[in-house]
Amino acid sequence: MAEPTIETPPTVALTDHHSDVVCMGCGCLCDDLSTQQRSDSSSDSADPGMLTILPACSLAHEWFAGLMAEDGPACLVRGRPVSIEEGTAAVRAILATAKRPLIAGLSNTSVEAQREAVHLAERWRGVLMGHASPVAARVHRAAQAAGLVTSTLGEVRQRADVVVLWNADPVVTHPRHFERYSLHPKGRFVPRGRKDRQLIWIGSTPCASSELADIKVIFAPGRDVEALSVLQGILNGVELDEKMVLRQTGVSPDVWRDLSTTLRQARYGAVFYDPNLSPESAIHAEHDARALMQWVTLLNETTSFVFHALTEGGNGSGLEQVVAWTTGRSGILDFGSGVPTVLTDVDSAQDLISRRSVDAALFVSSDPLREWEPAEWRRLGFIPTVVLSNSSTATSSSATVWFRTAPLSYAAGGTVFRSDGVALRVRPITSSALPSDEEILRRLVCLA
Ligand code: SF4
Repeated sequence: MAEPTIETPPTVALTDHHSDVVCMGCGCLCDDLSTQQRSDSSSDSADPGMLTILPACSLAHEWFAGLMAEDGPACLVRGRPVSIEEGTAAVRAILATAKRPLIAGLSNTSVEAQREAVHLAERWRGVLMGHASPVAARVHRAAQAAGLVTSTLGEVRQRADVVVLWNADPVVTHPRHFERYSLHPKGRFVPRGRKDRQLIWIGSTPCASSELADIKVIFAPGRDVEALSVLQGILNGVELDEKMVLRQTGVSPDVWRDLSTTLRQARYGAVFYDPNLSPESAIHAEHDARALMQWVTLLNETTSFVFHALTEGGNGSGLEQVVAWTTGRSGILDFGSGVPTVLTDVDSAQDLISRRSVDAALFVSSDPLREWEPAEWRRLGFIPTVVLSNSSTATSSSATVWFRTAPLSYAAGGTVFRSDGVALRVRPITSSALPSDEEILRRLVCLA
C-alpha cells in the first residue's frame, strides 16, 4: 500500500477569533468556548498569555496552555532530528522484530486516530489498551455486570429536578458542570433552573460541592457499598437492623429512610459519581459503581433516575466506542492469535511492561512515564518505544522514535465523544504543518 505524503516543516500560523471551540480539559467536554489568539509575530506563539478563552475556566486555561508546545523537529530517532520518512523507517524496523508490540495512550486523541491504532494493533498482532485508565476499565466492567440506566447530559439539563452527587466534587473537578448540565440551566421541565432543582450530596469527605447542597448525608469513609446496600434494602422493603446500619455507615437509619423518600418523590433524578476521586483504588471504584448502578435501577421502579460517571478529560469515551465498533470487544485486547482476545488479568500498560509481556511500545498523546515507578521506567528502557506527542515529556524524551504531532483541538481536528455518548466535532484554532496523530498512525498501518 502506498504511504501517504506528509508535509514536514513545523511552522505555526496564528489565527484570530474562534467560537464553538471544544475543550477537553475535563469530562464536561464543553463545546461552547470562544478563543482569541493574538497574532503578534514578535511574541512567542507558545505563550499561553497569547490565548484568551471565554468563558474563563481555570482548568481550560491549564489544558490549552499544555497544548501550546514549543517548536522543534517533526521527528527524532534516538534524540537525532530526522525526516518523518526516516522516522517511519525506524518504526518499521522496530515492528518487524517485535513479537508483541503494545499500543497504548490514545485517550487524548481523535476517534479517527483511535481507529487507525486499532488497525495497527490488528496488522502487527499487538496488544491494544482499549480504555483510558484502570478506573475507566473498572467502571465499564461494572456497567457490563449491573446494567446501566443513563441518558444524555442534555436530558439531565432539560428534566432533572433532583441531582445527586455521590462522592463527587464537580465544583473542583468539572468546573462548568453545574452551569452547563446539572444545576443552574433552565430546562423544559425545570423552567426556573436552580430554583426547580434539589441538590443532594452523599459522601464521606465534605467538599466545595457539598457546601452548595440542599441535603447532605455524610457516611463513614470507605463504606459506599454498605450505604448503598441500606438504600437498596429500603427500596426493597427490607427491615433494617438499626444498630448495624448505624455501626456500618455511621448514619442513622432514619436519615437513610428520609433520603429514600425524597428520592422517590423526584420526577426525574440524576446520580453523578466520580470514580477518579480515589484513583489508587480501581477495585473500590468498580464495586461502588456497580452498587450505584443497581441502586439507580431500583429507583426506576418508582420514578425516573439516570446514572452518570464523572469522567476525566480527553476522549476516553471515544476510545471505548471505537474499540467496540471495530472489534466487538472492550478492554485490553490481544491480537496475537489474529482475532482480538480480551486480557482479563491485566489492568494497565504498566502491568504488561513490568511482566515483560510486550517487547515494544507505542504511546499516543500520553505521558505514562510521568506517573510510573522508577523500576518500570528502567524496564521501559529495555524495549524500544515510539511516541506521538505534541510536546516534550518524560516518555517522549526516552523514546526510540518520537513524532511531534499537532495537538487535537488546538492544531488538529477530529471527532471526540462526551461521556454520555454524544459525538462532538473538534475544529483546530490554529494551523500547523505538523502531522496529526491520525496521519502518522495511518502511515504506520501502511507499513505492514
Ligand atoms: S469545565 Fe472542563 S471542559 Fe469545560 S471549559 Fe472547563 S476544563 Fe474545559
